[in-house]
Amino acid sequence: MDKCSRCKTEEKPLFRLSNSNVLVCSSCFMNYYEKKVKNTVLKYGMLNGVRKLALAVSGGKDSMALARVFLEVFPSIKFTVIHLNLGIPDYSDECQEIVEKFCKENSIELLLYDLKKHNGYSIYDFGNIKSKKRVCGVCGTVKRYLMNKIAYENGFDTIATGHNLDDIVEMLFNLYINGSIEELVRIKPVSSSMHSKIVRKIKPLIETMDKEDLYYAISRNLSYVSSECPLVEGSGMVDRKKLILKIEEEIPSFKYLLLKAHIKRFIPLLEEYVLPPTLRECEDCGMPSVNTVCSFCKLSSKILRLVENN
Ligand code: SF4
Ligand code: ZN
Repeated sequence: MDKCSRCKTEEKPLFRLSNSNVLVCSSCFMNYYEKKVKNTVLKYGMLNGVRKLALAVSGGKDSMALARVFLEVFPSIKFTVIHLNLGIPDYSDECQEIVEKFCKENSIELLLYDLKKHNGYSIYDFGNIKSKKRVCGVCGTVKRYLMNKIAYENGFDTIATGHNLDDIVEMLFNLYINGSIEELVRIKPVSSSMHSKIVRKIKPLIETMDKEDLYYAISRNLSYVSSECPLVEGSGMVDRKKLILKIEEEIPSFKYLLLKAHIKRFIPLLEEYVLPPTLRECEDCGMPSVNTVCSFCKLSSKILRLVENN
């Protein structure tokens, strides 16, 4: 049987440490991963001044790893889990069950939000209707808005999300290709609040890779939704992630180097030249918006019209 390169325990399977040929056992991998996330959190001062913390947990491997690593690494920091049920048949119910079970087992407060019940439509309703706008884009807008609103209305000052290095590099790739400078400037480990109704966001997994979150979930024996969202098919996001993995095969550490260059070199320059948007309050919901009506309210009324006419 193979031996762990660190503690020499014989174990199967062994996990490969990122961008190296070092194979370690599950226990050494957990130590490595937890240290890595802790270092990221401390390096960017993610928990500095936090009074009330919420974790956005979908039930996928990344956010489940995030919740577990916080329990292990910051045992004295209390947090609440926020979970959105997006109304995708079978998939959303499985996600919710996993999150509910985790919170119950670990005595964590859980805030559940059911999109269909509160807003009259689900992400599945939208995915079922022919529309030019891609369902993942719509889903992203809905999740960002609701997470912020729920956190704001419940008095949280910080929300941690499970975005990892692969997610961030895919976003950067997409935004650079489209020249979306205003959005690029907002991709960072800590996004401070720009308005009293916008909750500060942190990304503790910004330096861990998809496969590391997966290895951690396996090593810690975590339950997570293993099937893919049925609506992801045909999404450009999946193709971009595959392309990035191919680049990484040719240029080791490509993802990390791109992230580092973005944070250290581009963000300071972009922040000098890209002025933060002037925000007012949406006429419909009262949340911050660039226009008279915010993009969530516009999108919601459009989806409701589509659902009614279908
Ligand atoms: Fe939403 Fe797309 Fe993710 Fe499914 S794959 S949960 S539709 S963003
Ligand atoms: Zn609104």
